[in-house]
Amino acid sequence: MRHSPIVLALLLALASPVAAQDFLQPLQDLVEDLSPRRPAPKPAPKVEPAEAASETKADDGVTEDAPPPIPRPRPAGLGTEAEAPPPPAEPPDEPEATPAAAEPEMAEPVAPAEPAAERVYQTACPALLSGLVVGKMLPPIAEGICGERSPLELDAVSANGRTIPLSSPVTTNCEMAGALAEWTADVDAYSRAAMDSPIAELTTGTSYMCRDRVGGDEGFTSEHGFANAIDLVGFTLENGESISVKDQWQPATAPEGKLLRQSHGAACGIFTTVLGPEANADHEDHLHLDLGCHGQTCTAQICE
Ligand SMILES: [Zn+2]
Repeated sequence: MRHSPIVLALLLALASPVAAQDFLQPLQDLVEDLSPRRPAPKPAPKVEPAEAASETKADDGVTEDAPPPIPRPRPAGLGTEAEAPPPPAEPPDEPEATPAAAEPEMAEPVAPAEPAAERVYQTACPALLSGLVVGKMLPPIAEGICGERSPLELDAVSANGRTIPLSSPVTTNCEMAGALAEWTADVDAYSRAAMDSPIAELTTGTSYMCRDRVGGDEGFTSEHGFANAIDLVGFTLENGESISVKDQWQPATAPEGKLLRQSHGAACGIFTTVLGPEANADHEDHLHLDLGCHGQTCTAQICE
């Protein structure tokens, strides 16, 4: 059998301890160089890269990485160099996040609040609901000292089972609407009995108008300015006859004069203020009817 040189060298080395030591030493060095080097480099590079990475994250993460900046305020006393950069970087992140979340919340309550502020508060009118008067609610009127929160626009009144239209719509309040219907029923019943013809239409004049009183306490706001007064110019009967305050108040003994006086007297038991041709020259052509307050308890009446 033939042996290779390496085998022969091993055999010689085993035979001589000194020669074996010289021969194996290079092999042991080779093995040591290969194994111990790997773990050694790991600890060293870990420390520096970790710090570098965290610093770069802080700079790069200014806009996105909000969590990392939070723990940094704690070590603020540990390092002076790291303190300066992080604080200025954090504020932009927090403000952005706070307003972003707050704005939607603020916008939602504002939107419903506007309609609520614009809501109109009014009072329903029983005379309108029951059909005693025909018309509709109007928006609140606000004109300086004048106005009415729940005005009505009336087209007709119901009297003695019939609907009696107005020559022109009037703007008035609910109390006046009910009183007008009650008064019309009285006049209609009288006209049917005395004139042999019921009322076909009310000839209406001024209703709501923001102005001072006329023909008396000038300087005071008229009840017309509170939708609390109506001027009645005359009547039209179903037989076609037209009766006006201006032309037929006189003669007093004529059927037309009697009807106008009856209507004036009936109004005095329903309205608180009734002014006709005998009150003053300003009322020679109409009956002024209102529900103004007279006396400390609003129980006094003016009938002229
Ligand atoms: Zn008037």
